[in-house]
Amino acid sequence: MIRVNGRDYRLAHQPTVVVCVDGCEPDYIAQSVAHGHTPWLKEVLATGTVLIADCVIPSFTNPNNLSIVTGVPPSVHGICGNFLFDTESGTEVMMNDPKWLRAPTLLAALSNAGQSVAVITAKDKLRKLLGHDMKGICFSAEKADEATLDENGIDHVVEAVGMPVPSVYSAQLSEFVFAAGVELMSHERRPDVMYLSTTDYVQHKHAPGTDGADAFYRMLDHYLGKLDAMGCVIALTADHGMNAKTQMDGTPDVVYLQDVLDRWIGAGVARVILPITDPYVVHHGALGSFATVYLPAGADHTDLARRIGALRGIDSVRSRKEAAAFFELPPDRIGDLIVVAERSTVIGTAASRHDLSALDAPLRSHGGISEQRVPLIVNRRLRDIDPARRWRNFDAFDLALNHVE
Ligand code: ZN
Ligand code: ZN
Repeated sequence: MIRVNGRDYRLAHQPTVVVCVDGCEPDYIAQSVAHGHTPWLKEVLATGTVLIADCVIPSFTNPNNLSIVTGVPPSVHGICGNFLFDTESGTEVMMNDPKWLRAPTLLAALSNAGQSVAVITAKDKLRKLLGHDMKGICFSAEKADEATLDENGIDHVVEAVGMPVPSVYSAQLSEFVFAAGVELMSHERRPDVMYLSTTDYVQHKHAPGTDGADAFYRMLDHYLGKLDAMGCVIALTADHGMNAKTQMDGTPDVVYLQDVLDRWIGAGVARVILPITDPYVVHHGALGSFATVYLPAGADHTDLARRIGALRGIDSVRSRKEAAAFFELPPDRIGDLIVVAERSTVIGTAASRHDLSALDAPLRSHGGISEQRVPLIVNRRLRDIDPARRWRNFDAFDLALNHVE
């Protein structure tokens, strides 16, 4: 047994794979199963353990991947978005660096306990955080051709997988993750524990049940079926769901909150931060359903919260203190107000700062409470499971390590 962030875990005694399918709203699985594309998933739904879990808010990629590998919410591990506003320097800084991580990962703890651990991510932005202090294999599909024994614990990845390095904006980037996972597991010295994390490029473009989505899940089903056939325990969950965020004419339904606040209290007086912002904005235009607002000294927080909450498309506005408690966020890394949009609405800063020309499909995005429901599926019938309790995506390792016979 090892104890990590207050939770106990058994060491893996059979190969164990936790998969984070980026943007996997549960309906993607339902539709692909109903359309007959995913025989492995269909079988698992009948014979394994199938739960609906809540992800952490903001329903973004980094906070949730870090929750899954630490077993705790952002209030403990510290990663509450892709971006952080550093009030001291007055600048927005990326939170990709492990220096922002406040808790050890289970992956590091397992590797330090002598287990062989492998981590494969689609985008490189997550790699350093997930691999922090970990011994073993850790690389991204995006930079698979740059992997070295020294830095990543593995080299010649592209030759071994037999697939060229895919574009960062492609379904193949996620396929590379699965194919590499199968390749690692097919060796005699296979990992005890493997964590696979994909990208939501497909989910941002394709709604559940459409050809593009079904093809993605058919691909996923193929590779996970192979891992299952090798005897792996597989726990599948997601970092967040995904919803259409459009008006009736198909254009994005955006509340430009910086523009609103500039009108109310003066240009640039308040600062709206969108923690979805990252270097890969083509598929979502940096628009999500979550924002945090820094207000100047002397501003009437209560009145502004009430006025923002009354805007069309806004679901809720909470103070820093309320949001930190309700969403389990680190209070020192969020603004004075936390604003969450409704299911079909996203929050922007200023209209002039969002380049939507690259959006080649009606906007689908995430970030809000409306994208909190995710699948939590294990390919084994588990013991001591209460389906009525509130499960979290960051219970995935607990299920896979502690509850499998
Ligand atoms: Zn994501
Ligand atoms: Zn996304």
